Amino acid sequence: MSETKRVLSCIQPTGDMHFGNYFGAVKNWVKLQQTYTCYYGVVNYHAMTMPYNPKKLRNNTWELIFNLLSTGIDHERLFIQSLVPEHAELSWILNCFTSYGQLTRMTQFKDKSAQSGEQGGEGFISAGLLNYPVLQAADILIYRPSFVPVGKDQEQHLELTRNIAQRFNNQVGKEYFILPEPLFTEVPKVMSPADPTRKMSKSAGDKHYINLFAEEKRIRKQVRSAVTDTGDTPEGEMSAGVRNLFELLKAGEAMDAYQSLQSDYEAGALKYVDLKDAVADTLVGISEQVRARRAELDANKKEVKQQIKASTAAIRKEAQQTIAEVKDLAGLMNVRF
Ligand code: ADP
Repeated sequence: MSETKRVLSCIQPTGDMHFGNYFGAVKNWVKLQQTYTCYYGVVNYHAMTMPYNPKKLRNNTWELIFNLLSTGIDHERLFIQSLVPEHAELSWILNCFTSYGQLTRMTQFKDKSAQSGEQGGEGFISAGLLNYPVLQAADILIYRPSFVPVGKDQEQHLELTRNIAQRFNNQVGKEYFILPEPLFTEVPKVMSPADPTRKMSKSAGDKHYINLFAEEKRIRKQVRSAVTDTGDTPEGEMSAGVRNLFELLKAGEAMDAYQSLQSDYEAGALKYVDLKDAVADTLVGISEQVRARRAELDANKKEVKQQIKASTAAIRKEAQQTIAEVKDLAGLMNVRF
């Protein structure tokens, strides 16, 4: 029997996990574990490209690990990037197979470097910000996955990864790296409750995201105050806010409520309060489940951390094998391990 295909995906430890992250990425990761051999990385090296607080980074890294485990990610599939230093080593090697011009043309680099200039960063733009797609290429290629689940915003980066892999293969004269394919899965784009024209996101501030692990009261309050009408919806069209609430119901698999409220909407009899109550019940239900799991994990913090260190060490073996082969192919001396 052939080996199950590999999937790689990573997430940055930059703070709370919200329903956008959950419905748009993590819930799908949990499902993918049934079909593929998955590698899920908490990529702390990536959280350093913009000015950051080192103490917070350490905390956020463990927080994210515990949160991912609470959602149903298997501990064997999880690793912490900085405990696999081979990522950084491969990143250097791949930098030498990357076009500088292509890096400067990355949309995210253009956006974020413009932001750094604006946000009192004294215009400080780290070389890390420019090079981070190369580290991302290393994160991916080091495990030789067939697929990488990507959203639209990451497509350009995966294409770069494929370009780098191809250039390496050409130069060393061997089809060594598998060119990973994007895995497009239907995932919802969750919008901000405070401004349904922009996506739910941490970076926009507290009111723009609903924390998956928040207290019930807070979730209900945020849903209750979600914007429904912005006043600029064309006649006969569903407003962005109402559409987002329906999307949340669907994402939370509350299909009975979804259908009955859709019928109300079509009949022109929808009461926003009913829609909001149904959304709040759904989100609170999901949140209660993950919070219960989180409490169990918190009661065994030490053991959980040990498990993650062990799973990272096992995953690291794969990375060590790749880096040894890459160094051989690249004409570099190898350390034996
Ligand atoms: P944030 O924008 O809050 O900083 P991240 O960039 O860390 O979130 O995203 C982590 C993962 O969650 C990515 O796979 C991203 O596509 C997904 N994601 C983030 N926000 C949303 C959203 N509003 N809707 C759907 N998916 C999202």
